[in-house]
Amino acid sequence: MKDLDFRLKRVLMRVDFNVPLDKDYNITDDTRIQKALPTIKHVLDQGGAVILMSHLGRPQKKLNKDGSINVEKFTLRHVVSHLKSLLGTEVFFSPDTVGSEALSKSYLLNPGQVLVLENTRFHKGESKGDEIFAAGLSNLGDLYINDAFGTAHRAHASTSAVAAHFKHDEKSFGYLMNAEIKNADKVLNSPARPLTAIVGGAKVSDKIQLLERLMELTQNIIIGGGMAYTFVKAKGGQIGNSLCEDSHLDLAKELLEKAANNNVDIYLPEDSVIADDFNNDAKTQTVNSNEIPDGWMGLDIGPKAIQKFSEVLMDSKTILWNGPLGVFEMSNFSNGTMSTAKVVAEATSNGSFSLIGGGDSVAAVNKAGLSDKVSFVSTGGGAMLEYLEGKKLPGIKAITG
Ligand code: AMP
Repeated sequence: MKDLDFRLKRVLMRVDFNVPLDKDYNITDDTRIQKALPTIKHVLDQGGAVILMSHLGRPQKKLNKDGSINVEKFTLRHVVSHLKSLLGTEVFFSPDTVGSEALSKSYLLNPGQVLVLENTRFHKGESKGDEIFAAGLSNLGDLYINDAFGTAHRAHASTSAVAAHFKHDEKSFGYLMNAEIKNADKVLNSPARPLTAIVGGAKVSDKIQLLERLMELTQNIIIGGGMAYTFVKAKGGQIGNSLCEDSHLDLAKELLEKAANNNVDIYLPEDSVIADDFNNDAKTQTVNSNEIPDGWMGLDIGPKAIQKFSEVLMDSKTILWNGPLGVFEMSNFSNGTMSTAKVVAEATSNGSFSLIGGGDSVAAVNKAGLSDKVSFVSTGGGAMLEYLEGKKLPGIKAITG
């Protein structure tokens, strides 16, 4: 961004303003808006005008009964007054993303002013990466900035196709997108070692590509959450009614063999907090993870696992975390995830680099109140996962070529 001259320019900017709203359409968590502010302010301070585009929810999936868009629920008008108070500048709204009104409003902006366009997903062309829609969007700006890392894995019109209408020196990442890429690259390309990955969450099937990649990169992989039990079973353990993907047992065995061949240490939870029902009020006990009786399921890692994982993490110089280690949404099964968050924060204060790479582990670190005690918390769930897997994200390729 520092190479672009924003003076007297209309700057078309893709942000992620997909914020949660309550039933009266008040914003309940403005983190995503806050994260976009440095880039917006930079352009305004440099004498540019900003035209913001974003999606909000999935309006095409939740149409009114007559097939029309539910404008009241999904309009980006909901963010305008809050944005105005955060920026302290004039913020206008265009009820369409493309067309004459949006175009004339973009030209009427003075330097330092902002125009918010209606939800890009009101147009079917957005998620199809439609060329005509993208061309319409591109008319609204002299320069294009993408600061929406959370949607960088989608080849949509506003995240990808639109960028083709700007020359190399007319487009750039914003600060947030830049930071996401820089921090992920630090882990992927030049990590201080040992590098330990913590991989959790519900299913092995969602994390196969990530695990394959981590086999090439890391010294240690800690596996927790529901997905751990497929590995425990693959090693001959009894897992009772714990989550298990039987169709992936062979794959789990292959991954364990691959790790051994690559000198990667895999740490599975030695013990688990098990429950007789998927319910916070269920009966619980702590047992070895490979001795779970029928009728019981592992819903959190146990104290021995926490101890072992902590030792590995405290010895690590780089930590990458994707996915919770238990059903952290239920208080009785959140201890493993919360304790791990504390250890990651402690390792960070001792000088390790920690990246919380997306999805529910981000929610867990926030819940533990430790988001400012780790090195970087990603805003992009699916996007970060795909980036870590080694995929080229359309939103990044559209800028870098
Ligand atoms: P993912 O989206 O794959 O990262 O999975 C996150 C979800 O996995 C969260 O909603 C957790 O509640 C769930 N989860 C974590 N551990 C377990 C477990 N042991 N059994 C069932 N679900 C789990």
